Amino acid sequence: MRSSPFGADPPRRTTGSRLCVGCEAAGVAVRRRTAEAGEPQLAGLGVRARHTGAAAEEDMMSTSSRWIRMSLAAGLALAAVTAAAQAPKLAPAPAKPSVMILATGGTIAGAQPKPGEAGYKAGSFSVESLIQGVPGMEKIAIVKGEQIASIGSQDMNDAVWIKLARRVNELQASPDVAGIVVTHGTDTMEETGYFLNLVVKGDKPVVLVGSMRPATAISADGPMNLYNATAVAVDPAARGRGVLAVLNDDIHYARESAKTNTTSLQTFHSPNRGLAGIVNFGKARFYSPPLPKHTSASAFAGAVPDALPKVFIVYAYANVGKEQVEAALAAGAQGIVLAGVGDGNATAPMIEALAAAAKKGVVVVRSSRVGSGTVARNVELDDDKLGFVAAMELNPPKARVLLQQALTKTKDVAAIQKYFEEY
Ligand code: ASP
Repeated sequence: MRSSPFGADPPRRTTGSRLCVGCEAAGVAVRRRTAEAGEPQLAGLGVRARHTGAAAEEDMMSTSSRWIRMSLAAGLALAAVTAAAQAPKLAPAPAKPSVMILATGGTIAGAQPKPGEAGYKAGSFSVESLIQGVPGMEKIAIVKGEQIASIGSQDMNDAVWIKLARRVNELQASPDVAGIVVTHGTDTMEETGYFLNLVVKGDKPVVLVGSMRPATAISADGPMNLYNATAVAVDPAARGRGVLAVLNDDIHYARESAKTNTTSLQTFHSPNRGLAGIVNFGKARFYSPPLPKHTSASAFAGAVPDALPKVFIVYAYANVGKEQVEAALAAGAQGIVLAGVGDGNATAPMIEALAAAAKKGVVVVRSSRVGSGTVARNVELDDDKLGFVAAMELNPPKARVLLQQALTKTKDVAAIQKYFEEY
């Protein structure tokens, strides 16, 4: 793994122990200043005593007058020490909150073979390198990092999700951590974010962050995104809002967010319900809290199962047939999500194949490939008759995430529909 992202600046040390070294250094400086403030006075008294006690005078000085002067000097010295002791003490610096950064890879940790070129390899830098590449992190939190995976998020899989979710849940229960940041590729960030939103138990902020430009790029967006995400993770106003995603100065609810552009820095949008807030140079401003159930209020929060149910997405387009549905059934689908045209529609052959699957006990959820809006029940299609679930606001990948969780509890279509209305 490479060790120097975000340009050639010398890395800054931001881990907890290093910050403590900094705290100690600050303590030493304060002690030194106190000592220096005292020492010159005491030394000065001695110097003055020696000056006023020049040899000729001193010879004439009686023993008693020397005692008086020594007592005076001692008295002044004592007064100085007492004054120093009574001086208002410097308040101890408030303890900084701790943030754990769980790294999974992505473009934020990506390296280009040649600077200035579009090509790069995601997940090339370690979490420590990412932390050290962001100036000023140590001012907002005691930051530590753990490497969960080093993949482009196009390779995200159940095993990494389960490992990540379990670690987030451990950290939720740990008194030592105030917030959790997850560095992640942008391709599947919305899925991971929504998955965590359902399975994480706890109110501490969990903030996903990525970047559109690799760490070695001209004007890389990763450092500011990571700085902002860390600031959001320690912001008390972020608590209890469910899983968040921070990119390009926007704070999204993971449930609402979607990647909408292949390359733009402003790729993430929350089309249906809008942003969770904004964050500028680490200062966050939050908007309305989310209404759908999440984290602590989620029926799926807590113990994360060892495996997730098999759910496939089939994609509708003009003249689409039943082949994708048949392939999903042959591969052992327990659930199928339709990325439908328009309001969750598809050709008659595809709908017939889906209805046949639903009759066999495979749970079918209708979503839309459109990118925003709601797929509600019984509008153009008779979901009651066909045995389908309507995805409501969830896009196909997110509908897949919720269907997987729902299938860990039930196969009942009405109960699963209720989940889609509440989550
Ligand atoms: N393919 C990359 C990933 O998702 C894209 C990115 O991170 O922006 O890991």
